Amino acid sequence: MDINFCTVCGKPLIYKSVGDEGEQKYCECCNKFYFDNPSSCVLVTIINENDQVLLLKQNYISEHNYTLCSGYLKKGDTLEETVAREVLEETGQQVITCEYVQSYYFAPKNLIMAGFIAYVKAGEFNSSNEVDALVWADLNTAVTMVEREDNYSGTHLDNCIGILKNKPQI
Ligand SMILES: [Zn+2]
Repeated sequence: MDINFCTVCGKPLIYKSVGDEGEQKYCECCNKFYFDNPSSCVLVTIINENDQVLLLKQNYISEHNYTLCSGYLKKGDTLEETVAREVLEETGQQVITCEYVQSYYFAPKNLIMAGFIAYVKAGEFNSSNEVDALVWADLNTAVTMVEREDNYSGTHLDNCIGILKNKPQI
């Protein structure tokens, strides 16, 4: 979110030079800088013991397509703790282990998304109010179901499938 007014006194912000950061937003009245740092979230491809991916239907995001699990970081939590918490909250699945894949910058929300794969043993669904439906899908089917417009779910799923297909079979 772009901030243009001081959150303390409400005056319009000006630009002022600050060290290596260049021109940054600043309130003259409160002597306070505002940095447009992105917020951060995790984006998680949940994989079960049968190599299926768990897709979420969230009607506020798309009427037709599915998304991956995602959620914002909370103060004090690591990325891995956020993955475990969001997967549990949104789907009821217990993360056994997770691995970092890559990050994505989502410009409309000034959001840095840390993309993970989380491995679970398929358990009972227990989802939050934000989730309208949950479905396990084979990887080949999942790529056709996932939202790709204004959403990194499709890109991240493709990247995770690339990693999974290159893994030696156990
Ligand atoms: Zn101010």
